[in-house]
This record gives sequence, structure tokens and C-alpha cells, in this order.
Amino acid sequence: MASYDLIVLGAGIVGAACAERAAGEGLRVAVVEPGPVGGGATAAAMGHLVAMDDDPAELALSRLSLRLWERFADLPLAEFSRCGTLWVAREPRELDGVAAKVARLAAAGIEARPVGADELYALEPYLTPGLCGGMLVAGEAVVYPPRVAQHLLQLACERQAQAFLGRRAVALTAHGARLDDGSELRGPVLVATGCALPELLPQLPMRSRKGHLVITERYPGRIRHQLLELGYADSAHGDADSSVAFNVQPRPTGQILIGSSREFGVEERAVSPPMLRRMLERAFAFVPMLRELQALRVWTGFRPCTPDGLPYIGAFAPRPHTWVAAGHEGLGVTTALGTAQLLVEQLLGRAPAIDPAPYAPTRMLR
Ligand SMILES: Cc1cc2nc3c(=O)[nH]c(=O)nc-3n(C[C@H](O)[C@H](O)[C@H](O)COP(=O)(O)OP(=O)(O)OC[C@H]3O[C@@H](n4cnc5c(N)ncnc54)[C@H](O)[C@@H]3O)c2cc1C
Repeated sequence: MASYDLIVLGAGIVGAACAERAAGEGLRVAVVEPGPVGGGATAAAMGHLVAMDDDPAELALSRLSLRLWERFADLPLAEFSRCGTLWVAREPRELDGVAAKVARLAAAGIEARPVGADELYALEPYLTPGLCGGMLVAGEAVVYPPRVAQHLLQLACERQAQAFLGRRAVALTAHGARLDDGSELRGPVLVATGCALPELLPQLPMRSRKGHLVITERYPGRIRHQLLELGYADSAHGDADSSVAFNVQPRPTGQILIGSSREFGVEERAVSPPMLRRMLERAFAFVPMLRELQALRVWTGFRPCTPDGLPYIGAFAPRPHTWVAAGHEGLGVTTALGTAQLLVEQLLGRAPAIDPAPYAPTRMLR
């Protein structure tokens, strides 16, 4: 029976990042992935690397991770583009919170500044008239997540990680994990299977949160920053059955990605025309020009969502030698590299860079 220092189940961006980090520490790593590498939620994502400041633990993990992303800033396949994030206010009352947001981000070492209405239109001329202003986080970037996941796995394999592609873990065993071909891998297991986490660890609740995205033909220069409405966090962190928010991204190709929607309790992968319409109407309200553009493709994906919105990162105490890295909802691309660092630090018994307590999987078992 093959034996490893870490068996990573799932090669989305989170599992791939953990495998790369562990292999980089000299651990003997196995990676099990039944589908395409970076093909789950990772393939559906927008790839916006963004600091959300409304939860201190989420901000700490994002900050750790955003610094680690700088490593990929010059890697062509990552399609890293430092377009910055421009948060936009429709109502004057939305601007009231901007100073506090700027201060929270500054305390985390992330530079942001308020933007007045005139500057808003200088930065993004296609925004609808009558907006009040917003906030610019100039250092933030976008990437192409599936390619980065593939790259991370490749780096892990260059460090002797062994990939079991086309294989699925069907059970955790006393000594490791059993695969769907009946073989067993021996060693500590890291479950990084995103939405599928409860199939192997039913004790840890996870909901899938469906999202839609649209990508347009190429319209270079029309949109320059990742644009988000200031109310976006209400959609991302709220518990509504369904919600939409203005969230538009310029791809380095000149294409424009339009999001975002969130739905609980929907298992169907198919595009929902009413939800798509609702999402697009929201985007058109902020950027009417988008209405004229030719859409190329529409797709959906499912965000892995824990009950408290924070990912599970750490040991799953009830089972010896069992670790978890899953449940990153809409921030798993941003926080994958920080997750990998935090996980491997705990695995090796080192002092973690940030307090791991808020992400401890066992918080759900109390
Ligand atoms: C529409 C949308 C937009 C998003 N936009 C952003 C964004 O702009 N920025 C951001 O930071 N995040 C974004 N996200 C969130 C981000 O995509 C996810 O948080 C992240 O991809 C989760 O990565 P993961 O590796 O945990 O899961 P996944 O990518 O789903 O990977 C899990 C892997 O586990 C594998 N697996 C499942 N079962 C088993 C098993 N039994 N054995 C072995 N392997 C198994 C699956 O095949 C899959 O490859 C978005 C998500 C969606 C849906």
C-alpha cells in the first residue's frame, strides 16, 4: 500500500495550493482528483483577488493570501492583471461607511482611498450618471483560476507529488483514504473537496451556493477596473435564498465578465433565465453600455458555503490524521494560497502566521 505524508483529496485551487505548499516543504504528497484539475468551483470563478473587510478573520486570511499572490504577478499563464477594485455607491448613505472601510483595510496593510463622483467618471466613463462616488483599492488584481490550479499541481508534481487523476476518494479509512478503484492510500488526509466535503465528512455542514457569470466578446478599454457595488457584501455575506449584485470585471483579453448571482437550494447546473435577467438588469443599472455588448458565454458554478461563512481550515479533531481545507464561498481564489500556508503550518506544528481558531473545523461540532 502506497504511503504518504499528506494525501490531498480534490485539486481545485485550494487542494492544489495545499499540495504545492506541502510538497515545497519536502512532504511526500499524493493528490486525488476525479475531474479536471481546477475544474470545480475554481473553473467557474471570476478570479478577483479582493479583500473583504467586514469580517476580521476573513480579512486576515485575505491579507495573508493577497501577499502570497504577488508571486504569480509575472507568470503569463496566471493572467494576473492589477486592474484595481473600484467600489461604487448609488446612494449617498452608502458613502457613509467608506471612511471606516478605508481605515479597516489600512489597518490590514491594504491601501484604499475614497473616490468622489467626478473622479469616479474619470476612472470609469461608462458608469451611469448620478452615482455618488466610491472607494478605490488600486493594488488589487484578477487572475485566471483554473490555469493557476493546474500550475500549482504541476509545481507539486515537480517536487515529487503523485497525482491520481481520474480517481475519486470514496471513503476515509483508519489509515488514509480508499479510492474508487478499490486501492487505498496510506497517510494523513486533507479533504479539499469543496462542495462535496460532506460526502466524506458528513459531520461538517456545507451548502452549495449557485452563481451565474456572463462573458462578452472583446471590448478593450471600456471597463478598466473590477467594479463592485458597495452593497456587494450584503449579497455575499447575507443569507437570502437568492440575491444579485453588480460585479463586473475587465479581462486582460478585453472581454468583460459580468456577475454576480447567489442562490441557495438550487442543485440544477443549468442557467436560470430569470436569475440571469435579474443579474444583468443589476449590472445594466450601473453600466448601461453593457446592454449593447455581445455575450459570448454564460455559465454557472457552485460556491462551497459553511454556516458561518468562514472556511474550514485545520485538523478535524474527531478523526486522527484528518485535515480539512474547504468552504471558501466566494473568496476561495483570493484565499487559497493563505489557506495552504495556514494548513501546512498547522500540519508541521509551526506557529501559524495568523490565528487559526476562527477557521477550526471543530467549531461546527460544539
Ligand atoms: C460564479 C462564481 C464566481 C466566483 N468568483 C470568485 C472570485 O472572483 N474571487 C474568489 O476569490 N473566489 C471566487 N469564487 C469562489 C471560488 O471559486 C471558490 O471558493 C473556490 O474555487 C473553491 O475552491 P476549492 O478548491 O475549495 O473547490 P473546487 O474548485 O470545487 O475543487 C474541489 C475539487 O474536489 C474534487 N472532488 C470532489 N469530490 C472528490 C472526492 N471524493 N475525491 C477527490 N476529489 C474530489 C472536485 O472534482 C473538485 O475538483 C467564485 C465562485 C463562483 C461559483
